[in-house]
Amino acid sequence: MNRRLFLCHTAATVFLLKSSLRQATADNSTAIEKLRLTDEQWRARLTPEQYAVLRYSETEYAGTSQLNHEYRAGIYVCAGCDLPLFKSEWKYDSRTGWPSYWDVIHEHVTTRKMIYAFRAPVEYRCARCDGHHGHIFNDGPQPTGLRYCSNGAALTFIPA
Ligand SMILES: [Zn+2]
Repeated sequence: MNRRLFLCHTAATVFLLKSSLRQATADNSTAIEKLRLTDEQWRARLTPEQYAVLRYSETEYAGTSQLNHEYRAGIYVCAGCDLPLFKSEWKYDSRTGWPSYWDVIHEHVTTRKMIYAFRAPVEYRCARCDGHHGHIFNDGPQPTGLRYCSNGAALTFIPA
């Protein structure tokens, strides 16, 4: 095995290990009591944009969320069910146009690996209402090196 192939193989192994760790995190979330509503109830509860993101996994246009400019101290909760997901100290400017965080309240999200492409990102969802929030990338800052790329429409900011 040449060096390049070895490095590639090692990276793939680490990637798979991380994925299985996230899967373990997902299993922990079963302790959260689920919020299950009918489609009609979701439509009544959410704005059209929130509904498209949370219930149909749509992605908002980059740079459109007010939360891109939000840097006050506080907590970010799921717009669908108010479950806290991010602390303000985890937020950073990823320059992607989407609110980004380098950590999450792990027991409050579930993760799902896209199976259609090897390098596809891991999706994360609210553990209580199963609403789609965004994807996890490996290009975030330390200490985690992760970027939770979020749709601002899926979050509500509550100032401290
Ligand atoms: Zn939720």
